Amino acid sequence: MDSGARALRGGRAHGKMQAFIFSVAFMYRIGIDLGGTKIELVALAGDGEVRLRQRVPTPQGDYAGTLDAIAALVRGAEAEIGGDYTVGIGTPGAPSQSGGRMKNCNSTCLNGQPFQADIEALLQRPVRLANDANCFTLSEAIDGAGKDARAVFGVILGTGVGGGMVLEGRLWQGANHIAGEWGHMPLPLPEASDLPLPGCYCGRHGCVEAYLSGPALQAQYAAQTGLTATPAEIATLAEGNAQCAMAVLETYERRLGRALAQVVNLFDPEVIVLGGGLSNLARLYRTLPEYMAPHVFSDTVLTRIVPPLHGDSSGVRGAAWLWAPVTG
Ligand SMILES: [Zn+2]
Repeated sequence: MDSGARALRGGRAHGKMQAFIFSVAFMYRIGIDLGGTKIELVALAGDGEVRLRQRVPTPQGDYAGTLDAIAALVRGAEAEIGGDYTVGIGTPGAPSQSGGRMKNCNSTCLNGQPFQADIEALLQRPVRLANDANCFTLSEAIDGAGKDARAVFGVILGTGVGGGMVLEGRLWQGANHIAGEWGHMPLPLPEASDLPLPGCYCGRHGCVEAYLSGPALQAQYAAQTGLTATPAEIATLAEGNAQCAMAVLETYERRLGRALAQVVNLFDPEVIVLGGGLSNLARLYRTLPEYMAPHVFSDTVLTRIVPPLHGDSSGVRGAAWLWAPVTG
C-alpha cells in the first residue's frame, strides 16, 4: 500500500471513529423512575449531563393509565429535545423470570402484569427494566460516589430496605433478579433485645428490613418513649444527648453493622453507598465501620461506607444508565 492509499484508509477509519464518537456523544438516554406517587423522567446526554427532567403524578391503581403516562412522558421528551433515545425504567419490583410478569411491586398495580412487553409495544423499541435499588446502585457506581470502584454495593434504607450490586460497571441482577436483596435476609446474630423476631410483610420473621427500615426505626423509638419522631428528629435528639434517642440509634447502628458485615463477607465491595431517607443521618458514616468490622472475616476492612452523590436523583439516573455500553 502506498502512502496515499494508507492516508486515505486512515482517513476513513478516522472518519468512522469521529462518527461513532459523534453518535455516542449526542445519543440521549431516557430514564424513568416509576414510583408509587410520581413518575419522573430524565434525559441524560452521553456525558451524563441532565438535559431534561419532568415528573407527573402516578395514576393510582390504574395499570393502563400508568403505561400511557410513561409513553406520554417519553414522547414529550422526544419532541422537546430530538435525537436518538434509549429508555430504561426503574420499577418498584422486577419482572419474574418465569413469564416476565411483574413481582414484588409494593405500591403499584404492576404485579402480575407483562409490563415490559406492554411498554415496549407502546414505545416501539426495546426497554430495559431494573428495580429502584438496582438503578440507585448503577447510578452511584457509574458516575456517583462509587465511580472509581470495581465492586459497589448500594443500600436503600427507607420505607423498605433493598440493595443492588454493580461489578466493574455492570449491574448484576442475578438468576432470579434478586441479587442484592439483603433486606429479606435474617438479621444476623440476634441479641436478646432483637427478640421476638418481628414479622415482615414478605411472610418471614426477623428480616433485616423489619429492623432497619425508616418505619421500623420510628416504631422502636415510639416503643421506648411513647413519642413520635422522624429519623432526622431522633438523630437531632441524640446530638443533644437525649438518652433514649442515643440508645435507639446505637441499637439500630449495631444491627446495621452486623447486617452489612454479611454483605461484605459475601460480596466484598470496595464501596457501600447508602441511599434512601436514612442515608441522610451523617452519624452512620462515623459509627458503622466500627460496628461492622468485628463481624467481617478479615483482619483489615478496606470497604468504605459513603453517602450518595446524586441523592434523590440516583434512581432515575440509574434507569437511564441501564443502556450504558457496559451493561449491554
Ligand atoms: Zn421480609
